[in-house]
Amino acid sequence: MLIYKKTDVLKDILRKWRENGEPLNWVPTMGALHDGHISLIEAAKQQKGHVLCSIFINPTQFNDPNDFKKYPVTIEKDIYLLESNAVDLLFLPSVDEIYPAGFDGLPHYDLGYLESILEGKFRPGHFQGVCQVMDKMLQIIEPDYLYMGQKDYQQCMIIRRLLEITGSKTVLYTCPTKREPDGLAMSSRNIRLTAGERKKANAIFQALHFLKENLKKGNLMELISEAKSILAKNDFRVDYAETVDADSLQMLNSWDGKRPLVALIAAFQKEVRLIDNMILTEKDNSE
Ligand code: AMP
Repeated sequence: MLIYKKTDVLKDILRKWRENGEPLNWVPTMGALHDGHISLIEAAKQQKGHVLCSIFINPTQFNDPNDFKKYPVTIEKDIYLLESNAVDLLFLPSVDEIYPAGFDGLPHYDLGYLESILEGKFRPGHFQGVCQVMDKMLQIIEPDYLYMGQKDYQQCMIIRRLLEITGSKTVLYTCPTKREPDGLAMSSRNIRLTAGERKKANAIFQALHFLKENLKKGNLMELISEAKSILAKNDFRVDYAETVDADSLQMLNSWDGKRPLVALIAAFQKEVRLIDNMILTEKDNSE
């Protein structure tokens, strides 16, 4: 596996691949890799061409400085995992490489309603940071295909919007959420949970599952309040637990029996903030 830290040398090899007509498949990550990330790499390997994975912990998307400081770093293990999964190239830039002029004057993106709800509401500025780094890296890498996880449902919608705004030709694939055997969505943050917190952490999956099993036409508020009590019984402090239109993310207090619905939850187990979601109106592909 090639490992590049500098943009100019990266661009050289990508240009050569492009000239040879070899498509480029990009899997962006922040490292501390787990099987969820590997499932994106597997999806990328199904396509023709090369697989490039990036690891970059983007400072501009952390609204909580403590979360940034404590974000897990396991770079040696990550490199081993990427090698063993036959990734062609790892892009491992420094903060200066991505933000050579610092953080002042970075662009602002018109994300509209999508940015005002759920993660956008509870993590102000987060999606602007996500767009800043993705826009920069999309311009450097110019991938044909981009692979992201449904685990970050709203983020996938934001990136679709970014691709639209910037007129990018990159095609985004949203890949299913990979779960632990007890249902907990795999996440780099899970390694910060103590054994006791880890046991309770699958309550998010239980709450989502409860919503899916009990969904019926009409008012959704009672259902949501029961899902919240599953979380509270397991010592979760809830940022949000919502059922929304799966295509527009419009908040819905009642369901007409037809609209596609997704449930999204963000909650703290002690200091660790976890997010997850489940499509309620069709088979969910998570494993
Ligand atoms: P992160 O390193 O957390 O920024 O995640 C990098 C990519 O992996 C994002 O597109 C995530 O949505 C995706 N991802 C994270 N966890 C999972 C998971 N459990 N299953 C599938 N994809 C995931």
